[in-house]
Amino acid sequence: MPTLKRAVADIRARRGTIALVPTMGALHAGHFSLVRIAKQRADRVIVSIFVNPTQFAPNEGLGTYPRTFASDVAALAELNTDLVWAPAMETMYPTGFATQIVPGGPAKVGLEDAFRPHFFAGVATVVTKLFIQCEPDFALFGEKDYQQLKVVTRLARDLGLKTRIVAAPIVRELDGLAQSSRNRLLAPAERAAAPALYSVLKGCAERIAAGGPLEGVLDEGRAAITRAGFALDYLEARHAETLGRLAAPIGEPIRLLVAARIGKTRLIDNVAV
Ligand code: AMP
Repeated sequence: MPTLKRAVADIRARRGTIALVPTMGALHAGHFSLVRIAKQRADRVIVSIFVNPTQFAPNEGLGTYPRTFASDVAALAELNTDLVWAPAMETMYPTGFATQIVPGGPAKVGLEDAFRPHFFAGVATVVTKLFIQCEPDFALFGEKDYQQLKVVTRLARDLGLKTRIVAAPIVRELDGLAQSSRNRLLAPAERAAAPALYSVLKGCAERIAAGGPLEGVLDEGRAAITRAGFALDYLEARHAETLGRLAAPIGEPIRLLVAARIGKTRLIDNVAV
């Protein structure tokens, strides 16, 4: 029996529960917080490391995505992770692979999907495969990738999966920049400018919460992000659960979401209002 199947069967034989933390490696404090939350939820924690090619378009830097496998495994050992699952490409995408999970709902609201149309089918397909392989009771997803969290939550509900999706708060650097594997790709000047993304988000959220005019506040936020040296993809206020457009901003839970490029690196972030 393959190693993963045997490990999962052993845990099940002892009536243990499993939490899965899916990652693409290049691990940082954000990932480690997910592992810690996972340990509180379940008896055993599996961390998967797989840089999933189907969620990258040809120009989106699959080749330059940071890979730090040896130090990832060492850090996960420090955290007493029970199992690291780094599947081979052939395991995830066997020759002739021809099946896709194509999510709708929060995957089709005009945020990430408008700029990365292939992205959520890639995510949904790989997450479904990881769930089939690891049979987790819980799976941890960071609010850092807020639209992804909503897409996976919807997917689990729609397919009737037994895996409970658990959301984890965003872990930030001291200057507010959301931790991300992609931060390693920032040149020093870009790294110095990058915290503007969060400070603008926070400023907009405070003004909207205080009753400021939604579109006016967002327009000023968009201009501030551009002034900080970013090429803006979007800065939007959406319904925090459906990610749909706000019908009546008052009384609805609001999430602000941003994606912007600095140099060759694309960063995303979000905050609650
Ligand atoms: P990735 O390796 O970038 O695919 O991320 C794996 C998981 O870690 C996803 O569920 C992300 O949302 C989560 N994650 C990444 N960065 C952070 C962060 N700064 N805070 C919390 N969760 C994060």
